[in-house]
Amino acid sequence: MADNKENKQENKCSSCTISDCKSRGSGDKACLDHIKNKLVILSGKGGVGKSTVAANLAIALAEKGKSVGLLDVDVHGPSIPRIMGLRGKRAKIKEPWLIPVKWNDNLKVISLGFLLPDDNEAVIWRGPVKGSLIKQFIEEVAWGNLDYLVVDCPPGTGDEPLSVLQILGNDAKAVIVTTPQAVSIDDVRRSITFCEKVGNPVAGIIENMSGFVCPTCGDMVDIFGSGNGQNLARETGIKYLGAIPLDREIAQSGDAGKALTALSPDHPVRKALNEIVERL
Ligand code: ADP
Repeated sequence: MADNKENKQENKCSSCTISDCKSRGSGDKACLDHIKNKLVILSGKGGVGKSTVAANLAIALAEKGKSVGLLDVDVHGPSIPRIMGLRGKRAKIKEPWLIPVKWNDNLKVISLGFLLPDDNEAVIWRGPVKGSLIKQFIEEVAWGNLDYLVVDCPPGTGDEPLSVLQILGNDAKAVIVTTPQAVSIDDVRRSITFCEKVGNPVAGIIENMSGFVCPTCGDMVDIFGSGNGQNLARETGIKYLGAIPLDREIAQSGDAGKALTALSPDHPVRKALNEIVERL
């Protein structure tokens, strides 16, 4: 009996970075037990700022002293390495674990971009291959203890978000990013239905690119409109997490790999993200 227990302990989690791991040997999914909160960032459409929100939300949480993992499962367009200034980094493999790339002491990152031979490589994979990669990304990364795992999913309600939610389990919460336009809001409804069908709760809706802060006068102009995300939240009973303005600096800092760190403490985008973190 004691032997069995010992073998069981040695079996699966032999490389686990957590010394007092209570799930040792209980299966591949054991590592997920070390993650307190799983947030899956979804959007109905591409280009609404989902990766920007995922990266900056992870940084905002890490800045608050939380231990955070940022997982980029956007297989065809992994943009997290660029936004986080980690282009060119490669993830190490310590069998059977994939070692995430450290952004700072509180934040570790995994992206397919860290596994490709070079940053311009195009990935032409069909569903099953993508599914098994996502499974590995979720179950075989040596995250250690995490307060938050933030997952940047490809847009839509297809194979990848489905795999992510199914593998993470029903305690994973979706955070839906939208822009204020009606076409984007329509897609959010589909994302909400998708979460209902898969059985995962929605933590809330974020309206990105909501109003433009004029760099000259500081006035707010509603280029894409605003308030649709809030209206939808009211209508569906889902929490409204907040609005992030359309801002030149956040776009530039994302391109430059500096993300939120380039923004001053009182910058409107930083303030918006901090409010979102509080509401989460
Ligand atoms: P998605 O992941 O939804 O495809 P991205 O996060 O890649 O979208 O963002 C698309 C583009 O929009 C990027 O160039 C990004 O810098 C820019 N962007 C995102 N959010 C904002 C914002 N609030 N203000 C200005 N530009 C933004």
